[in-house]
Amino acid sequence: MSKTGIVYHQDYLKHDPGRGYPERPERLRAIVDALKRVGYWSSPNVRVIKPTPATRADLELAHDPEYIALIERLSKFEKPLDADTPVHANTFELALLAAGGAIATGRAVTTGEVLNAFALVRPPGHHAARASGGGFCYFNNIAVAVKSMGLKTLILDIDCHAGNGTMDIFWRDDSVLYISLHQWPCYPGVGWWNEVGAGAGEGFTVNLPLYPNTGDDVYMCFLKSFVPPLMEQFKPELIGISAGFDAHRSDPLTQMNISSHTYYQVGRLVCKSKVFAVLEGGYNLDALPRAILAFLVGIRDGQLAAEERPTITQEEIKEKSTQRLEEIKKFLSKYWDL
Ligand SMILES: [Zn+2]
Repeated sequence: MSKTGIVYHQDYLKHDPGRGYPERPERLRAIVDALKRVGYWSSPNVRVIKPTPATRADLELAHDPEYIALIERLSKFEKPLDADTPVHANTFELALLAAGGAIATGRAVTTGEVLNAFALVRPPGHHAARASGGGFCYFNNIAVAVKSMGLKTLILDIDCHAGNGTMDIFWRDDSVLYISLHQWPCYPGVGWWNEVGAGAGEGFTVNLPLYPNTGDDVYMCFLKSFVPPLMEQFKPELIGISAGFDAHRSDPLTQMNISSHTYYQVGRLVCKSKVFAVLEGGYNLDALPRAILAFLVGIRDGQLAAEERPTITQEEIKEKSTQRLEEIKKFLSKYWDL
């Protein structure tokens, strides 16, 4: 039976923004410990893959050379990119290793070495645009990987924050369909449904903003209303998941009401395709490993031994969400059959 690839390097733990930052090494430690504890790490269905750093040429597929040089320079002088995104002496090098992890994940899937794969990387990437970074992100790991594979790709971004960086990089590109489900309003303040890309890429960015306190029922309703029909019409050769788990109801940075069931269902929705996932956010150390395990069971179309109950959205938010869903469908029907 084909394996699932887990791309991981222990140096990912060395990225340490500092005291008080939610994007901290303990996140990965909790995930790896949990995967080992349940026997996942050593399972015959799993291949652990050690990545190598991305090259400058890889990064230039998604970023301006001047921006790459800026991160290198900030690393040398340990000057922060912004208040959320400090830069230390090893940041440049570790950000290259994270982008390299995403590339290794994409490659393992496209060469058929594994059935699907997950990159357990830090720092995350989806807020890094062509010429800017922020929100804990320096280089856009998934964008670098997608560009480097060069295939027609659907990027499904399930992080609770809109992936403004990924959106920017593929804004005018019709070879990549970007779909993001995120809390609205929320950082970084972009991702309303009328933001659809431009030029040849118009219609290939699909933003699905969700009300705070959205539960599994409404989340799945949005997901099923857009992802399967768009997959069928776009016919991607590869699916990349920007796998953030901070829409979980216990996440300290957001106000959503999602349980592991949603992450399991996201995995199942794409399990028949070539899928690679790249870790983004997720800041509750109990919920994060559970959510990832649920997703990993889903992408193998396995059975979830659920520890959590599915969540139901309050009536008032459900009604408003249904209305919004219809509005978005109507608006996007000039690009897609919905
Ligand atoms: Zn996030």
